[in-house]
Amino acid sequence: MSNKDKTAKIQQIDVKVEKASNAANTSKKINLLDFTSEKLKDFLVERGEKAFRATQLIKWIHQSCVDDFNKMTNVSKALRSNLQETTEIRAPEVILDQASADGTHKWLLKLEDGNCIETVFIPEKGRGTLCVSSQVGCALDCTFCSTARQGFSRNLTVGEIIGQVWIAKRSLQPDANTDRVISNVVMMGMGEPLLNFDNVVDAMKIMLDDNAYGLSKRRVTLSTSGVVPALDRLRNEIDVSLALSLHASNDPLRDQLVPINKKYPIKVLLAACKRFMEGKASRERITIEYVMLDGINDSDQHARELAFTLRDIPSKVNLIPFNPFPETRYKRSPLKRINKFRDILTAAGLIVMTRKTRGEDIDAACGQLAGKINDRSRREQHFARIEQET
Ligand code: SAH
Repeated sequence: MSNKDKTAKIQQIDVKVEKASNAANTSKKINLLDFTSEKLKDFLVERGEKAFRATQLIKWIHQSCVDDFNKMTNVSKALRSNLQETTEIRAPEVILDQASADGTHKWLLKLEDGNCIETVFIPEKGRGTLCVSSQVGCALDCTFCSTARQGFSRNLTVGEIIGQVWIAKRSLQPDANTDRVISNVVMMGMGEPLLNFDNVVDAMKIMLDDNAYGLSKRRVTLSTSGVVPALDRLRNEIDVSLALSLHASNDPLRDQLVPINKKYPIKVLLAACKRFMEGKASRERITIEYVMLDGINDSDQHARELAFTLRDIPSKVNLIPFNPFPETRYKRSPLKRINKFRDILTAAGLIVMTRKTRGEDIDAACGQLAGKINDRSRREQHFARIEQET
């Protein structure tokens, strides 16, 4: 090889290495959305910065929803350029933003690895509730839930969980000084939050942080199908409200509908809920979620049995009319049946509400979040494999 050729080859390699390291740099930038106030403080102090800078940054990021360091005018130029080099504020990418006729809003968000998740905003009189996902897919296999059909892919990072709140706030409330639009967050989107424990707890800490979203602990609700050991851990970690996806009045029925019941049956689960509520004002009552499935769990006998099961649990029962999805074997209970079921519970002294079904025209209703794009890409992969094999 001549010297000239050698030089050309070396240059080529250099270019490749530079390209590779650029790519590595962008993907390796630290995402500031992953940090709670405490963690951001530690991060900055380790780099020789003052702790109060963390408060300034948290306010810019979560109160003003700013992702451009140049706009953070009270932060020193030196720190800004330092942050610019090594960090970023990286939320998932919005690939679909749909508004329903009833004001419900749904975002389809694409994550860096190509997976998709969904987030829903439900406006009601005097409040606005954001329904946030905690995992890509779900491992729990509840038979009436469309997310379960998708299987489990992975846990969301803190940045991907709080990023949903960030995106929704930025879209619904572009001016940080206007009244708060998102007043409540429910961890009722895709996934089982207690199976992504650390990231969900950190994301909820940011929701409660006065310098970030400043939500009241009564207005941040974790919904679980009942992972008992994690529920016991949760009570020592953070003070939020709890919703329990009960859906059945006895174990054989719950074993069928919510298979994790085989591991943590109703008695064990309700005892854990009682422990969770002990001594906390924000945990006065637990929300019991009960999906109304025609001919499955909606008889008078089920209602009486449910009232008995909940007799010493301070609770409010939320009846959820089943939201159908393609290929489901279940049907929604007729309204008359739901009302009768409600009346039996009310007569037994329980507080009962029937959840209004919202956003049906955009598949945004409870249990309909399946990340359709995921399904499609999987199916495509599947077909591609079949084609290759044949
Ligand atoms: N894994 C958590 C949170 C996600 S589901 C949990 O189980 O609580 C949020 C709520 O929607 C749960 O109560 C769930 O049981 C309910 N749900 C799921 N599929 C549904 C459907 N098709 N119709 C109505 N509610 C559904």
